[in-house]
Amino acid sequence: MAGFAPPDSFRSDASALQLFPIRFERIGTDRFLVGNMVGDMEEMTATELDRLCALDLTPGDGLYERSFEKLFIGTVDQRARQQLLALRLRSRLSFLRAATPLHLFVVTLRCEHVCPYCQVSRQSQDRVRYDMDQATASKAIDIALSSPSPLIKIEFQGGEPLLNFELIRWIVVTAKQRAEPLGKQLQFVITTNLALLDDAVLDFCGEHGVLFSTSLDGPRDLHNKNRPRRGQNSYELAVAGIGRIQERLGPDWVGALMTTTEASLNRVEEIVDEYVRQGLDGMFLRPLSPYGHAIKTKQFHKYDGQEWLQFWKRGLRYILEINKSGRRFPEFYSALMLRRMLSDEPIGYVDLRSPAGIGLGALVYNYDGTVFASDEARMLAEMGDRRFELGNVREHRYRDLVLSDTLVSAVAESLTQTAPQCSTCVFEPNCGADPVYHHATQGDLLGIKPLSEFCERQKGVITHLFELLEHSPEDAAVLRMWAS
Ligand code: SF4
Repeated sequence: MAGFAPPDSFRSDASALQLFPIRFERIGTDRFLVGNMVGDMEEMTATELDRLCALDLTPGDGLYERSFEKLFIGTVDQRARQQLLALRLRSRLSFLRAATPLHLFVVTLRCEHVCPYCQVSRQSQDRVRYDMDQATASKAIDIALSSPSPLIKIEFQGGEPLLNFELIRWIVVTAKQRAEPLGKQLQFVITTNLALLDDAVLDFCGEHGVLFSTSLDGPRDLHNKNRPRRGQNSYELAVAGIGRIQERLGPDWVGALMTTTEASLNRVEEIVDEYVRQGLDGMFLRPLSPYGHAIKTKQFHKYDGQEWLQFWKRGLRYILEINKSGRRFPEFYSALMLRRMLSDEPIGYVDLRSPAGIGLGALVYNYDGTVFASDEARMLAEMGDRRFELGNVREHRYRDLVLSDTLVSAVAESLTQTAPQCSTCVFEPNCGADPVYHHATQGDLLGIKPLSEFCERQKGVITHLFELLEHSPEDAAVLRMWAS
């Protein structure tokens, strides 16, 4: 009877190994994070990293298997592993095939709140010349529907969009009529403070599937301090609105966003408790953006990247405990990062992409018909910097806008794949280019990354999530659930 060949016969020849592109970063004493070009990462000691680079690996030594699994190495004669890397990279970049799914209509700049951190230059309620008109909206709908994405999301922004609700009605009905023969699917969201929510708005939104996104900064005193309005009742109106939408249309019909101000930094648990109390399905621990009134009132400079990271880590710890007690309640920024780190699915979030999401991920139609590459680009224009203005709905078609020199140069100049610092950064496959942020804060589309708070936050967030995934099994179970 023929016997089995000895185990050595099944071992591959270590001398035929080759090293694939890898990057690494020191994360502690004798601790390195090593990553491949599609974002898989592994922790190694300096000796292990040296051995990997020298291909001093032997089947069965553990490091060989870890390196093989993470696609750091392959064999010279097998192309399958390079093809796998290429396939995974293609999948991660597949958002480019369905360009511009998101279209933001700024239906008015008017607002009845006077928030000091507001990122747009809101106008007082009576200044109707800051409303979008039907002719402008009609042209914007045509541009939105001519973008390649089969699913088009139209988001109504302001100011306070409910101050121009008649136009929202018209846009929803008209866009649906025009989308049908084109075979496009539509989604609608109103970003509103909910102060003007009434039965007519609820009826219409229920009938046409229009969702709500609102702002909730935390408990009553914090929210009302951050979001002043006449009557000091922003919190009461927001919470009442959330309750009415949940009761009338369903719990999934409304989501909320918070903005971290200096006053929030020590109160993250109370903020999380407020979201849980309002029956919301998760929360996004967002830093302030450097635009509009947030700059004029110096709100943006009141805390730095490290202080935000401490706030986010403390909030994440508290949120993880809520999840471990049985309630599914994700922190949405972590969930987005985890999907990047644990899968090759393209994600819709425009700030975590390279090529950058400006224009290719979203277009913004301002009330006067000007088109911008992102909402932040519009905010920058309100501050007098029109670097990311792409054109006007009356003169330009979709192709003109996305192939404009302004957009093409901004996207090309900000690619992380080729940028100094980013191109050799272990976090690059899970990071993104944010040319508007870097232009606003550093006057440089690419950004001077050692001085960039965006970069500091990305490194801090990804490293922390990696460490939880690797060293804390109970937390890792929750984080993996969020990513799926
Ligand atoms: S921005 Fe920073 S973290 Fe992101 S890829 Fe560039 S260097 Fe790395």
